[in-house]
Amino acid sequence: MKQSYPLDRIRNIGIAAHIDAGKTTLTERILFYTGALYKIGEVHDGDAHMDYMAEEQSHGITITSALTKAHWNDHLIQIIDTPGHVDFTIEVERSMRVLDGCVIVLDGVRGVEPQTETVWRQRSKFNLPSLFFINKIDRPGADFDHVMQTIGKRLGAKPLPVTLPLHNEHTVIHLIDRTLIEFSGEHGEQLRVKPCDDSDWERVAGYRENLLLGIAEHDEAFADQVLAGDEPSPAETWAALRIATLKGNVCPCFGGSALRNLGVQPLIEGIIKLLPSPLERPAANAFLPDESTTQVEMINNQPLVALAFKVQMWDGRRHVFTRIYRGQLKPGDHVRFSKPDGTVITEHVARIFDVDAAKKSRLDLANAGDIVLLAGLRHASTGDTLCHPDHPLLLERIDTREPVLSLA
Ligand code: GDP
Repeated sequence: MKQSYPLDRIRNIGIAAHIDAGKTTLTERILFYTGALYKIGEVHDGDAHMDYMAEEQSHGITITSALTKAHWNDHLIQIIDTPGHVDFTIEVERSMRVLDGCVIVLDGVRGVEPQTETVWRQRSKFNLPSLFFINKIDRPGADFDHVMQTIGKRLGAKPLPVTLPLHNEHTVIHLIDRTLIEFSGEHGEQLRVKPCDDSDWERVAGYRENLLLGIAEHDEAFADQVLAGDEPSPAETWAALRIATLKGNVCPCFGGSALRNLGVQPLIEGIIKLLPSPLERPAANAFLPDESTTQVEMINNQPLVALAFKVQMWDGRRHVFTRIYRGQLKPGDHVRFSKPDGTVITEHVARIFDVDAAKKSRLDLANAGDIVLLAGLRHASTGDTLCHPDHPLLLERIDTREPVLSLA
């Protein structure tokens, strides 16, 4: 059964990395934590390990699927795998618009690598709010500080630390919540969060200052507060960091080890607290009659605009992954799209599916905000804007609009 969420509780994200940095492992661990792969609370005895590994194996397909859903704290995180980050054509690049935010994974030893630079360029083109996960912090030679510096130097990004590895590979310190997060068990199943004591807090005082000053550069009221020596609360810090991240001014950095599950849970919180909902991105906003974020019904009542972002063979048939920005779609509806050479094509959508990893289930109706799989389209492909036949519109017109921020 498809579980529906209000649009402000959805995060459509991509996870990008240079090969071997740990993208697959991190995706797996996010699913593990959110219970999509295995309920952490159910890991009790010796057999659990085997079950977990078996489960993991059987979900191999999950990890490489074009769309995987993770449910966390009343939010839906949709992890979208856009095609060919390196081999980019205009069509593939256009398909990046399906994302509202991304997590860039870096190897804690190797730092920024060539493919990280490619991903960063694409991310910058779409002004995609981004988080960094500095992974493999358990490896000898891993250096969080050095990687933060290379992010600044080689990408020209402004990284701000949010969680840091501390003491050993079992603990991270949270610079906003002022907590120590400890992980134990072979797969980091047990998680203990406790307030950070004064001596640990002193050791990270410099990082905390960097974080606050980094945020303050983009927020005058926050700057006044910090400069007056008035310690901002976690809620104030999250809110100010969120605005700076959404504007693309800064990139919050999380440290950890996906393999050991270290630092993954704070990253999930970060995805929800710092990355935008579909309503906060320009493509969706362009369809809102005004800046209010409560106009979802009006978006549904308008003519269809959707983006095809990936074509995949499924059960031997051609299927098209599509994100709906405006309007609704039913099986049997016609959609119109134009090819880069100007040819205009109208085709009929035979079936619509909700997808989660390897599972697909039929839908009678898809709404604005949904990401669905369409069967029956023979010519629609990656990067095409699908419209109501009587209301043609191209999505690229929207690219240049500034994001309209409507924050609670
Ligand atoms: P991808 O190519 O980016 O998807 O990378 P993978 O997730 O497949 O990981 C590449 C290799 O690095 C695998 O052998 C992983 O087990 C290993 N790996 C991933 N994360 C970590 C980590 O946090 N620590 C260590 N030591 N190895 C890791």
